[in-house]
Amino acid sequence: MYSKNKFTLSLEFYPPRSEDGKRTLWNTIENLQVLDPEYVSVTFGAGGSTKEPTFKAVENIIEDFGLNTVPHLSCLGSTKTEIRKIINRYLELGVSEIMALRGDIPDNVEDREKFVHSGHFRYGSDLVEFINRNFPLLKIHVGAYPEYHPEAPDPESDMKNFAKKVRAGADTAVTQYFFNNQAYYKYVNDLQSLGVDIPIAVGLMPITNYGKIKQFSQICGAEIPLWIKKRMEAYSGDPRAQKEFGIEVATRQAEELIESGVPGIHFYTLNESEPTLRIARNLGLVEREMTASSLS
Ligand code: FAD
Repeated sequence: MYSKNKFTLSLEFYPPRSEDGKRTLWNTIENLQVLDPEYVSVTFGAGGSTKEPTFKAVENIIEDFGLNTVPHLSCLGSTKTEIRKIINRYLELGVSEIMALRGDIPDNVEDREKFVHSGHFRYGSDLVEFINRNFPLLKIHVGAYPEYHPEAPDPESDMKNFAKKVRAGADTAVTQYFFNNQAYYKYVNDLQSLGVDIPIAVGLMPITNYGKIKQFSQICGAEIPLWIKKRMEAYSGDPRAQKEFGIEVATRQAEELIESGVPGIHFYTLNESEPTLRIARNLGLVEREMTASSLS
């Protein structure tokens, strides 16, 4: 959990779908344990498509590493009974925090309207309210969008909707990734004037695979600044140079954010350890954690 006077580092993974994938993730977690993350989170495929793999990954991470593990849970297309069942299984594992999301309509759904109305939840705030009412001891993280959610008609209503999620019981938020820190500062300031003061940690996405991030950014509405695009394009055909530049950009971005006092950085690891570890080392976060634990 985030607190006002402490910087929190967290890591996000996706659930592995094969034995090879699990080996990769386990190596990644082993390598990243030196960061002493406050929590690690495990994503949930759109429309519950990774319900079991997510559960298994959470169960195994807790068993094998003893890490504070936060499952993501999306609600679009689910009934209250289904959500209750999933949460109860997590409680049996000792989970105490949930990343509560609306989720998106899976690509393979033909009748999108029907899918939206097939469940009992419409927005992230509905899930937050449900969890808060039925599982009051669970801490609730939610998603935040400094460049605004791609479906939002305008920034104002998006921020008001975010404020609703907070009033429904969200304790903390993690942002969608962005590359323009000014967007985050303005967003947090504007939310404060709406009375929202929960900690909003930054989701950091190092561009280690430019093609993929470019494609995903179009879907999730994250803007890649022109200067980054032009550099990445200049390195086209040299994935190593692109990756080095991506790590440098993420380091500088995080450095400025930490200096400005962000409550936390949430690394979108994409199940790889090297970029996260290098950025954390550049930022002095590895040494800091080690010094802190050796002093205690
Ligand atoms: P919501 O808060 O529900 O908002 C979605 C849209 O609805 C916004 O445009 C908002 O303005 C609007 N809205 C909200 N409330 C109202 C209202 N009362 N009336 C009218 N409009 C409203 N997706 C996954 O499938 N699995 C994951 O594991 C996952 N992890 C994520 C982790 C993070 C940190 C983030 C930031 C996103 C993650 N996502 C994940 C993506 C997320 O599910 C999508 O971005 C989804 O489109 C929005 O979910 P939400 O709960 O954040 O949005």
